[in-house]
Amino acid sequence: MKPVLNEVDVLVIGGGNAGFSSAIPPQSRAIVATVYYGLADVLPIVNNVDEATASIIDIEPYSAANFADDISRICVGRSDPDLSCALVNDSNAALKWLAGHGVRFQLSFNRQAYKIDGRFKFWDDMCLKTQDGGKGLIDDPRRAAKRLGVKVLFSTAAKCLVVDTATKAVRSVIVEDTTGERHILAGAVVLAAGGFEVNPRMRSQFLEPNWDFAEVRGTPYNICSCLEMAIRDVSAKQAGNWSGCHSVAWDANAPPNSGDRIISNEFTKSGYPLGALWIQGVDLRNYTYAIFGNAILAQPGHAAFQVWDAQMTPWLRDEEYRYSIVENITASTLEELADRCAECGLKDPSKFWDPAVKDGLSTQSSLKQLALPKSNWATPLTKGPYMAIKATCGVTFTLGGLAVDHQTAGVISSATNSAVPGLYCAG
Ligand SMILES: Cc1cc2nc3c(=O)[nH]c(=O)nc-3n(C[C@H](O)[C@H](O)[C@H](O)COP(=O)(O)OP(=O)(O)OC[C@H]3O[C@@H](n4cnc5c(N)ncnc54)[C@H](O)[C@@H]3O)c2cc1C
Repeated sequence: MKPVLNEVDVLVIGGGNAGFSSAIPPQSRAIVATVYYGLADVLPIVNNVDEATASIIDIEPYSAANFADDISRICVGRSDPDLSCALVNDSNAALKWLAGHGVRFQLSFNRQAYKIDGRFKFWDDMCLKTQDGGKGLIDDPRRAAKRLGVKVLFSTAAKCLVVDTATKAVRSVIVEDTTGERHILAGAVVLAAGGFEVNPRMRSQFLEPNWDFAEVRGTPYNICSCLEMAIRDVSAKQAGNWSGCHSVAWDANAPPNSGDRIISNEFTKSGYPLGALWIQGVDLRNYTYAIFGNAILAQPGHAAFQVWDAQMTPWLRDEEYRYSIVENITASTLEELADRCAECGLKDPSKFWDPAVKDGLSTQSSLKQLALPKSNWATPLTKGPYMAIKATCGVTFTLGGLAVDHQTAGVISSATNSAVPGLYCAG
């Protein structure tokens, strides 16, 4: 028997936003995006807007229906309906609950707005950010937890869940720090310890080969130990998209195995929609086709158009491109072909410059075409000095997790299909 450290009402494993949100009573979900009802709704909780600035801001309301539609579209209809509903319907209240506990919010002028004709025009669904970004989202709830008397153990890893054989409830957790292993008895345990984004072996097994080469954007400790612990010790039911992850264009010179707490999000390189993205090492088809499948999957509608002229069509392989096997879209000019493709889903280009709206201004014309078309905000690069940066793939988080009850966040057992008493999951 390991020594007992102490007994607590609730033991939260993980010191990120989900962990601290769970540690502050009453519990709530962490927010990614939120429903809001226009500027008047968010003004009382932001600290960077004076009256004069407020008078030149345009923010459209982001309704529950908008949020639900976006989740459904981005998840290609595969999101969990009950969990999505809980997220959407509770998001506005959760935001204000966090603000009430001292999380400092601001309007995100730098990331989500452009000043056009003297007015700040916010685009898309995320007008809010936390002050100091991710650092603020850790510091502010941590301050709130301290005020409320929450005890925090640093550098302590959870290793094992111990179940009461009579009640089947999770009764304690074995943890390890530099002094060794011990038990913490707990009335309830909340798992809030991330996914497998930091585990190169699991990334290459569950995502795809080569994902072990991705660089890690955040904490170096999310190696999936808690999800694995729950699957192993209480037969927790697995859920989510285990072959999926969130990743971004990331500075190729950043540290590979963890983010940097000071530089944080500044390694992200998200300016590519306004410029060109050049990919290194394009080679013969055998060496590239597996890359382009992935790239096409990532396009809007999971589709791209392959286009040839009359000089090249005779070279196409009959078994793949004959009329009876694939719908051939033909036209005598490129413009006419574009119209025909538009009938099949290609977006119709508009002709004005507004970085807040996807404008459809593309690189493809009858005079010049790029091998990899750029679909929006394509303006000619004509004015020096020029600038380039080298970007790689930075993985943020993985999407595989545990099935939970959508009302209580109780972890579901794959053996009984009901909640494991005393065990919850967040994040
Ligand atoms: C650079 C960067 C920028 C981002 N920008 C945005 C953004 O703009 N908007 C947005 O919505 N999201 C953003 N995200 C994502 C967002 O930060 C995460 O989704 C969110 O913080 C996840 O919170 P979490 O509490 O679930 O997990 P985490 O914050 O990852 O916390 C998990 C915790 O568990 C601990 N842990 C792991 N294993 C164990 C164990 N065995 N025992 C004990 N503890 C353990 C870890 O040390 C960590 O403290 C960004 C992430 C990064 C890295």
